Amino acid sequence: MSGSISADETEQRPKDGAESDASASDAGPSSARGIGRKGRGVEPARGAPSKDKLTPVMRQWDDAKRAHPDAVLFFRLGDFYEMFHDDAVLVANVLKLTLTSRNKGAVDEIPMAGVPYHAAHGYIAKMLAAGYKVALCEQMADPSKVKGIVPREVVRVVTPGLVTDGEIEARENLYLAAVDVEPTPSGDRRFGFAILDLTTGELSAAAMLGTASLTCEIVRAGPREVLFAPGSEDVAHELAPLLRSVALREDGPLALSPKQIVKVEVGEGAADDAARDHAPIALAAAARVLAFARRCTPNKPLPVRRVAALDLASVMRIDETAQAHLELVRAMDGSREGTLLSVLDQAVTPSGARLLRQRLLSPLVDVGAIRRRLDEVEAFVVHARARAELLGILREIGDLERLAVRATLGDATPRDLGAIRDGLSASPKALDVVRSLPAADAAMLGVDRMDPLPALAAELGRALIERPPPIAREGGLVAEGYDRALDEARATKRDATQLVSALEARLREETGSSTLKIRFNNVFGYYIEVTKSQLGRVPTEWRRKQTVAGGERYTNDALDQLAADIESAEGRALERELSIFAKLVGDVVAVADRIRSLAQGLAAWDVAASLADVAHRYDYVRPEVDDGDILSIEEGRHAVVEQHAAKGRFVPNDTSLDLGGQYLWLVTGPNMAGKSTLMRQVALIAIMAQMGSYVPAKRARIGVVDRLLSRVGASDNLARGESTFMVEMRETAAILANATRRSLVILDEIGRGTSTYDGLSIAWAVAEHLADVAKCRALFATHYHELTDLAKASPGVANVSVSAREHDGGVVFLHTLVPGPASRSYGIAVARLAGLPDRVLSRARAILASLEGDAPIVDGPAPRRRGSTAQLDLFSGKPLADEAPKKAENPREREVLDKLRALDPNRTTPLDALNLISLLHDTLK
Ligand code: ATP
Repeated sequence: MSGSISADETEQRPKDGAESDASASDAGPSSARGIGRKGRGVEPARGAPSKDKLTPVMRQWDDAKRAHPDAVLFFRLGDFYEMFHDDAVLVANVLKLTLTSRNKGAVDEIPMAGVPYHAAHGYIAKMLAAGYKVALCEQMADPSKVKGIVPREVVRVVTPGLVTDGEIEARENLYLAAVDVEPTPSGDRRFGFAILDLTTGELSAAAMLGTASLTCEIVRAGPREVLFAPGSEDVAHELAPLLRSVALREDGPLALSPKQIVKVEVGEGAADDAARDHAPIALAAAARVLAFARRCTPNKPLPVRRVAALDLASVMRIDETAQAHLELVRAMDGSREGTLLSVLDQAVTPSGARLLRQRLLSPLVDVGAIRRRLDEVEAFVVHARARAELLGILREIGDLERLAVRATLGDATPRDLGAIRDGLSASPKALDVVRSLPAADAAMLGVDRMDPLPALAAELGRALIERPPPIAREGGLVAEGYDRALDEARATKRDATQLVSALEARLREETGSSTLKIRFNNVFGYYIEVTKSQLGRVPTEWRRKQTVAGGERYTNDALDQLAADIESAEGRALERELSIFAKLVGDVVAVADRIRSLAQGLAAWDVAASLADVAHRYDYVRPEVDDGDILSIEEGRHAVVEQHAAKGRFVPNDTSLDLGGQYLWLVTGPNMAGKSTLMRQVALIAIMAQMGSYVPAKRARIGVVDRLLSRVGASDNLARGESTFMVEMRETAAILANATRRSLVILDEIGRGTSTYDGLSIAWAVAEHLADVAKCRALFATHYHELTDLAKASPGVANVSVSAREHDGGVVFLHTLVPGPASRSYGIAVARLAGLPDRVLSRARAILASLEGDAPIVDGPAPRRRGSTAQLDLFSGKPLADEAPKKAENPREREVLDKLRALDPNRTTPLDALNLISLLHDTLK
């Protein structure tokens, strides 16, 4: 514990982070969600004595808590953050800390728990993960320099969406989002949606109609925390199952108009631009994230420069199920393994990795813009040496973007400044590499617009030692020769040992005491130690400080003077260093925007060069992208599956969907043949092409896709309380409602979740709709062979199948796509592969035979038969020939039926009818 805090503040600390007993840890919150647990946090000082009875420190705590009642207050006391009252009980549970108390045994005993200051990051992260906000109340002065109580203030409220330091994921953005809502005249709802990354200063907003678009955008952004404006709570509840690890909060009305808020936080000009460029509801959402960030980071400028437009019309819309099913950035199990991102992201800078991720999730639709990105990649594909050199240099750049923002937020450490120096001094080498490319390429890559800030780089280079420390407080960060006054003070400090030895020698000589020594300790400072035998030689003017076993300790004027000189030199040096540090931080802040621009430029090069590297390594090709109707891929591969297949074992396939010809492909084939893989591969290639990447194929021509809609695999959403089939139908409905002519639709096994006839009917009708109404490019995998007849009726439909061969009663998958429908399904062969018992398999074969032929499965009524003609009849509207099981008639029944047939109802009186019924009834008895 720091020795420098005043008496009022000394605490009996429990052991750092000690584990509590089990009983204290079982009452943690059950979920991390904010909606439905409004006002999560702790009421101020429940059960605390009235304010006037509080000690000064507890009064400070009380004030801070009242200002932030919904946050857990981490209250700095020396080297600890302490929590009191209900906060203490809560953190003890969540963080598994020992719950102790302040003023133990007294009437005003207060529950207390604490964590060491230096280890706070981890604890804060855990509180955030559990969905809480944490208010950090800091000491605002050096306790050793303040008389009485140290001033304290809440300097920041950390929430899941507003973390700026500690262990944050470097390779993705960290977003806080806000949703505002307004009704439209047509009775629909328009949403304002904004996302803010406080670590990079990016703020974007958009207005959109309907919850489907909103959902798509939220899932794309993947925020950590979402603020819902009054009136949008129902949307929050609807989205909650999709946003499982996201903190959802109901937010109140805005205190000022959106434009005023933007003006205060981002600046007048930016507010004017934003008001011009954005719909009012989008601006409201932008203002909402800014207002929230302001409440959480009081007294600091937000690093936001402008409210950018999330331009939904310029990017491919990938509905949220497609984002999930295609495993773009997250696999179905939540990990990063096996995702498209894991294959493509070879970026060497964190900002490059973030940019790549953004591009992957937001492929473009503008042909010109896509080709420009592809040109950049191509430059580095062609110039492999430059690519390798550039990537090598960029590795040293670090995260200039976030470092610049940290400086703006007042969080920069000496180590951060060192990292900025290193990044800036590496940049000119990167520029040189790009300049070495042919002039047209260099110009295209915008090398002339890049400013590596040589003046700042030089200044930091001169000012800082090679490896500056992680904290400024103790100095030791400024290099020799940078500042004369500092050098002098340091020289005095350094000379101290020599000066002390010189004084010691002089005193020995003056007193004749050969064993006299000048020593130092932390309690008494410098002193002269004289052994017992030589005490007689001590001059009378020396002052005695302490008696020890072997002799006495003294001081004198000369030593006091020297000690004061040494101490003041140390103080001077430290003060000087701290002021130099503050000036350097100021230098960085002054050009923070330019550093960020540089970082973004380098990030774009990183993306281009690392995608070129991926293209080279995995043998990708530049796709031809145009506005045409064709999506044609020669020898396409699945970027992820091919990584896991043994080398050279992935079987490439050709696909061609053409709006002017056959645009809907019905894909049949045995289970496990590779239908899903094929369809996903087409979708992934479209995404890769439009994000500006090369693609795994021999040749690819991509007529731009505006929306990617998919329904792949059986996913269920039990959290929404819906069955698998319900989810499937809901997703299918969304696809049919949203498919445009330029969309790409991927449908896998529609209708599998219900009875065969229902399923087949639905699948048929959906396919027909896509072929005749939506008329968009689509791949449709199905097990219903009957469906393949659709191709006969619809010229836009083609049958293809993924082939397999039967071998020794088993099945060999060839994974090759061939024209025409699959001949059979091989389901039983696959079941055998999967290890179903022989008994079950042979019975299954027998049942199959009877379904395909006439043999009965069980004795008794004949089974339903399966046969494509019969089922097709269903769709021509005629009754199925064998739909109703026929029962053999007995003679009495025949007699009854004959009588009924002979009857003419128009000539039968009611009485005759009644008599007849009675007669018929008797006949049957
Ligand atoms: P089901 O009908 O049972 O859903 P499917 O036909 O959709 O099966 P996939 O899931 O696409 O089959 O593929 C099954 C496995 O076959 C994949 O896991 C993959 O490892 C392998 N595979 C698929 N396509 C290829 C290919 N072109 N080359 C090599 N292996 C492939």
